[in-house]
Amino acid sequence: MIVGILKEIKSEENRVSMTPAGAEVMVHHGHTVLVEKNAGTGSGFLDEAYTRAGAEIVETPAEIYARADMVMHVKEPLPSEYGLIREGQIVFTYLHLAADEKLTRALVDSKAVCIAYETIQKPDGSLPLLTPMSEVAGRMAIQQGAKYLEMTQGGHGVLLGGVPGVDPGTVVVIGGGVVGTNAAKMACGLGAKVYILDMNLDRLRHLSDIMPANCFPLMSSPATLRKLVREADVVVGAVLVAGAKAPRLVTREMIKTMKRGSVLVDVAIDQGGCFETSHPTTHKDPTFVVDDVVHYCVANMPGAVAKTSTLALTNATLPYAVTLADKGWKKAMQDSREIALGANVIDGEITYKGVAEAFDMPY
Ligand code: NAD
Repeated sequence: MIVGILKEIKSEENRVSMTPAGAEVMVHHGHTVLVEKNAGTGSGFLDEAYTRAGAEIVETPAEIYARADMVMHVKEPLPSEYGLIREGQIVFTYLHLAADEKLTRALVDSKAVCIAYETIQKPDGSLPLLTPMSEVAGRMAIQQGAKYLEMTQGGHGVLLGGVPGVDPGTVVVIGGGVVGTNAAKMACGLGAKVYILDMNLDRLRHLSDIMPANCFPLMSSPATLRKLVREADVVVGAVLVAGAKAPRLVTREMIKTMKRGSVLVDVAIDQGGCFETSHPTTHKDPTFVVDDVVHYCVANMPGAVAKTSTLALTNATLPYAVTLADKGWKKAMQDSREIALGANVIDGEITYKGVAEAFDMPY
């Protein structure tokens, strides 16, 4: 199969959908890999590294779309690419179609085979191509929280780990899933006093088993939140209710009781956020202040650490990409329910219920 790696064109997106190491694996499987010029530069992978791995560098996205049997992106195709997608071509990337009717209709019209990273699902219900980005965002949340506690950044000048003779800072993590667990681990590693809240008692039991002694897993409730938010130096929003907007668990009234110069990091902002005062921000202008509390609400946090994010994402996507290339999409989907669940649009038909329902289209 001919596999095409496109350069990301969405603003602030420096990731790439395959590393040179991944290209080498594809080539060993007997496939041809085309890489758009400078596709990996933002993540620190130069064209020469791809050439050494056996890939061919191609000047334009049009050439990739014209020659490849499968094209890979990180983010969804943008309008300039809609007309380039060919009938029967596999498009393998994050698509998030339920939020984008124009793209959905363009992919239906293209008659391509559109497989979304985010709907590939393991038998246990986990989403293996979303997990690595949640791991990155969770870990980064504490790095950002610690930074914005510094006085020059608008914070109240607390070092999360404290020092001998001085109390550490207090971190409250709301949601004990992938983002929350990774955030709590980082905060614990710095030596902060960490509370992690969830609604799921089994999850709390698991966290209690695996987390260090400076982490306190607690049942989430408005009363607990009211109390902890007042004490916190950093609060991380990491809640997810599948298929729904994030619940606004921390109200403006609660935020008014927080210490001046404390920091909210709303990782769940991509689902609407879990603080009443949140609105999405960008890496160029990541924070704003409400009631003297610094808010960090960047919707694509992994984009800031493109190298780590690319490596983490491609560790997860490569096995699926190799299977699709080795077997072709029909056999790959017959053999693997995980991959079949990734199918969103095939040959002009919507094949994912949530996408069809979002736009009242046939399924
Ligand atoms: P997850 O499903 O692994 O975890 C969510 C957790 O929230 C679950 O354990 C669930 O029990 C818990 N929860 C649900 N309702 C709750 C409540 N009322 N109180 C406390 N806990 C509650 O999800 P995840 O992968 O950790 O993702 C969390 C959020 O982070 C999602 O909205 C995801 O889209 C977002 N995210 C954002 C970025 C970014 O760049 N901003 C990157 C990755 C993920």
